[in-house]
Amino acid sequence: MEVLPELATGDVKHLQRCINDLVSLLALPAVWSGGDPSQVLHTLMDALMRMLRLDLISVRLTNSVGETPLEIVRSAERRGPMPSAHEICEALNQCLINDSRKWPPLLRSLMGNGDVSIVLLPLGLQGELGVIVAAAERADFPQQTEALLLSVAANQASIGLQEARLLSHQKRVASELDQRVVQRTAELAAANQELKKELDERRLIEEKLGQEERELKRSEVRKAAIVDSALDCIVTIDHEGRITEFNPAAEHTFGYRRDEVLGRHLADVIIPPSLREKHREGFAHYLATGEARVLGKRLEMTAVRANGSEFPVELAITRIPLEGPPSFTGYLRDITERKRARQELLRSEAFLAEAQHLSRIGSFSWRIQTDEITWSEQLYRIFQIDRDAQLTFELIGTRIHPEDLSIFQEHIGRSRRERSDVQIELRLQLPDGAVKYVHVAAHIRGGHEYIGAVQDVTERRSSEEALSKARSELAHVARVTSLGVLTASVAHEVNQPLSGIVTNASTCLRMLAADPPNVDGARETARRTIRDGNRASEVVTRLRALYAKKDPTIESMDLNEATREVIALSLSDLQRNRVTLRQELADDLPVVTADRVQLQQVILNLLRNASEAMSVVDDRPRDLLIRTEPDENDRVRLSVRDAGIGFEPQAAGKLFEAFYTTKNEGMGIGLSVSRSIIERHHGRLWASPNDGPGVTFSFSIPCKPEGLTSDDTHASRIPSVSDAA
Ligand code: ADP
Repeated sequence: MEVLPELATGDVKHLQRCINDLVSLLALPAVWSGGDPSQVLHTLMDALMRMLRLDLISVRLTNSVGETPLEIVRSAERRGPMPSAHEICEALNQCLINDSRKWPPLLRSLMGNGDVSIVLLPLGLQGELGVIVAAAERADFPQQTEALLLSVAANQASIGLQEARLLSHQKRVASELDQRVVQRTAELAAANQELKKELDERRLIEEKLGQEERELKRSEVRKAAIVDSALDCIVTIDHEGRITEFNPAAEHTFGYRRDEVLGRHLADVIIPPSLREKHREGFAHYLATGEARVLGKRLEMTAVRANGSEFPVELAITRIPLEGPPSFTGYLRDITERKRARQELLRSEAFLAEAQHLSRIGSFSWRIQTDEITWSEQLYRIFQIDRDAQLTFELIGTRIHPEDLSIFQEHIGRSRRERSDVQIELRLQLPDGAVKYVHVAAHIRGGHEYIGAVQDVTERRSSEEALSKARSELAHVARVTSLGVLTASVAHEVNQPLSGIVTNASTCLRMLAADPPNVDGARETARRTIRDGNRASEVVTRLRALYAKKDPTIESMDLNEATREVIALSLSDLQRNRVTLRQELADDLPVVTADRVQLQQVILNLLRNASEAMSVVDDRPRDLLIRTEPDENDRVRLSVRDAGIGFEPQAAGKLFEAFYTTKNEGMGIGLSVSRSIIERHHGRLWASPNDGPGVTFSFSIPCKPEGLTSDDTHASRIPSVSDAA
């Protein structure tokens, strides 16, 4: 063992200090726990400045330690102007760039006025961490202990920096990791969100699909139900014309079971043999060219049932819109009934047209809203309007007689407003100048449409006029007939005053021939002669009035008085028939406006009928009551009540019919004429059986019939519905 030479006290102190400094340097890493390179460098530089009395210390770190290169410079204050660390670094740059392992541990350089010793200490094994530059204005710098301290410091710093680098790397890695974790987490969250969205969407799609599937199933079930319950035959075929579906209606119509026909050729099943070839050709033509002569159209053709019977069908074929080889649906309807009904309809239309033609009735409809008018054939004929003409009221108006045009227009206006049923008589003036009478009756249907009929009543009108004339002739005949019956009583009536005249005249002569002549008596008998003469003349006058064929005269008349005159005329006839006549003529009977002679004819007829009805009655008194009385509603009533044979209830409706009679000598026109006379006076004539035997015939007429003129009682009237009824 080598013995160290004894050391001087100064040296010992120096060593002690050096050891202390070494210990301080070795303790530094404990302070660098944070791993911050700048802290490492600051503490190291502070320590070295303090320990080594340096004038300048500079550390330059490469970016291998931190994010960016770092350079820290410290200089002693006591020293004068020093070159800046930067300048020193720039000066040393060349060396520093070069391989650090070749750096000289010690450089001497002249800077400024004095010598400066510079020590470069690489940091890291190869100086890869950077370099420490320590400078002092001492020639002896660095001494041995200083060099030791510097190299220990550089080592410590290298370790510290390595640690810091590692730590920083770790931190960076950790931070990067954190960042990547955060980023990944965010990405995952986003992906998760996306996934969730996708899942939601998928769920929605699945739900929708499920719903669609259910809907599809439902629609399939519905379609199947429709096909099954359809009234039409539904048959589907594939591209070869083979049956793929045959619904129950088809089974029922054609008489095949579904399973019998599935897979068979349509043509062989439902098409009559005579048409099969044509069908096959048509089908083949479509498959080859795509040209369809039947698709989408309604056709009528003949089909055949399983039992071979042929029948008409209506057919519609559609192509099923599916990809792949074409397939078709055929809808068939048995139209046997429809054809029959159509023929029936055509037949009944023809009947109707014929009936309209024969009855001269045309029908029409009029839609009020649109003025759409529809006419039957016959109506065009009646109005002599061309079948193709556009019907308007204006055009129709050209056929209306100018005198009736205003009535026609007024009726149209009223119908539009009131929408009530219409009855109207009109005259037409046709292009050929002919005048026609038409009766229009229309009924409103549903409040918006008139349905009606127009009847050409020209002929009826003429025959009515003829009838009316015949009626008046008949009335005359009836009167003349009555004349025959009454001849005896008339003769008696006239005979009485005549014999009175003769007797009185003889008496008068006798009285004048007496001596002295009885002048007073003669005067009296002469007066009686005159009275009887007047009576005979009156009878003749009344008879002439009653039986003369003179024009009717409307006048104010006393019905009681007229009745009394008739009674006077009929009295002898009644007496001959042993009829007991009772009169109840009301005192307060109002005056009536009427044709006196016509009313007297009615009364005479009633009296005569009553008398005849009692001519076979022998078991009871032949009582006849004639009564006049005021009737309600300003009318007067006259009734003739007998105790005769009466009539059977079933005859009640016929009594007033012309030519109805139960008498051998009867003509059956008396009551018919009487009723028409009373009706012309706007009154009513009726018969009712008595409680006891016999009948009461009565008439009631208004005292002042509105608008009654001589013409009314004579001329024919426009026929009304009540007439027809
Ligand atoms: P005619 O007297 O010529 O038969 P009428 O028209 O006057 O014609 O009468 C028609 C018929 O009405 C009579 O035939 C008779 O059957 C019936 N008839 C008329 N008046 C009476 C009456 N008072 N009692 C019963 N039947 C009557």
